[in-house]
Amino acid sequence: AENFNAAVAAARSLNAYTVETPDDALACADVADAARQSGDLKPLSGIPLGIKDLFATVGVDTTSGSRILGGFKPAYESTVSGKLRDAGAGMLGKLNMDEFAMGSSNETSAYGPVISPWKRSDGGNAALTPGGSSGGSAAAVAAGLAPGVTGTDTGGSIRQPAAFTGITGIKPTYGRCSRWGIVSFASSLDQAGPMSRTVRDCAILLEAMSGFDSKDATSIDAPVPAWEQGLSSDLKGKRVGIPREYRIDGVPGEINALWDQGIAWLKDAGAEVVEISLPHTKYALPTYYIIAPAEASSNLARYDGVRYGLRETPEGGNLDAMYAATRAAGFGAEVKRRIMIGTYVLSAGFYDAYFTKAQRVRALIKRDFAEAFEKCDFILTPTAPSAAFGIGEKMSDPLAMYLNDVFAVPASLAGLPAMSVPGGLDSQGLPLGLHLIGREMDEQGILNAGLAIE
Ligand code: GLN
Repeated sequence: AENFNAAVAAARSLNAYTVETPDDALACADVADAARQSGDLKPLSGIPLGIKDLFATVGVDTTSGSRILGGFKPAYESTVSGKLRDAGAGMLGKLNMDEFAMGSSNETSAYGPVISPWKRSDGGNAALTPGGSSGGSAAAVAAGLAPGVTGTDTGGSIRQPAAFTGITGIKPTYGRCSRWGIVSFASSLDQAGPMSRTVRDCAILLEAMSGFDSKDATSIDAPVPAWEQGLSSDLKGKRVGIPREYRIDGVPGEINALWDQGIAWLKDAGAEVVEISLPHTKYALPTYYIIAPAEASSNLARYDGVRYGLRETPEGGNLDAMYAATRAAGFGAEVKRRIMIGTYVLSAGFYDAYFTKAQRVRALIKRDFAEAFEKCDFILTPTAPSAAFGIGEKMSDPLAMYLNDVFAVPASLAGLPAMSVPGGLDSQGLPLGLHLIGREMDEQGILNAGLAIE
């Protein structure tokens, strides 16, 4: 019992879960036992999963990492978590995350940072971030605290934490997974996806999570392919595109060496390597950091102290004072920064200069990919320009934090499926990820390429 308690304390010290729901996980095992006896096992019968804390879960706290949603227990279930449940899965708990999914290190959470289970080989005991915003999700899988989890990815939040923690994560084509019941960050970019140890597990989970939903106007009305059944690491006849614009200055040699190694693995699996060009890549990050905050500032207007969670009522104050006090106390610094940027780029005087221009550049980035996919079937790049960094290392420098998304953001702006698979370890013994970007609706293509790398 002592060992057990110590193990539980060590697991909890990662701060991966904001809420634990062990009864739910145990109940799903009982249901699975009964199903086995009656012969109606489902694809996820008896599998307990962690759910990122921005999927609405009936009666269970859903905070999106924010103080402003403290105590919010939804009366409804998100489509994605409901589908996982229908497929037989149970819930281990809700997973910590950056506040409203804004961040790349899980340090903006109102519920404290998540600590990665990884350590640098020469770094003593220095705590590292698991990446973000799905940092709790990534840490839980990496530490063996969940066999699979949900994440969301607006500009890299599934892929970068997967890379930092040595696991696999896929962001499907925009519209594959319903956004209904997921706390919105940037609606034109937000997409749910699974994170797990293997490509196969991700394929199984993604199949359960995907599908048309009339409650989400941007949901794609197309059948869900049998991705797991379609898995094959034979890449004969496939062309892998290597975008020359992703060879950027300042990226450590180890990252580029891993990229070359990835190219070699894909060649061994039968793929032909072609150089491609994505000329607008250098505009992707600034474009993302206009569009995402703009949409966020609009989505976050609903947190007014009336409808959800926190309410601050200053003595003698009117309604406006209540709004202001609630938002001042409820939102953290990064969320406030995004609201300021977002309202600025949407303001009458600057709308055309920033927001309209960003929308135009987004169209060009999309076109770059469409042209590239005439020459190749999928694209390989590194997932992130660095391995996991230390807690506190980038918190005072938002630009350095934003730069970590440089490889992830273009696929998000184009709505394309993309995944990170573990590639190897750096000289500090930390995991590095390889990033695959696929054609619209071709999750199978990148799953197969991922399987060849894995
Ligand atoms: N790190 C990026 C941001 O802060 C992406 C986050 C995400 O994908 N949710 O916006």
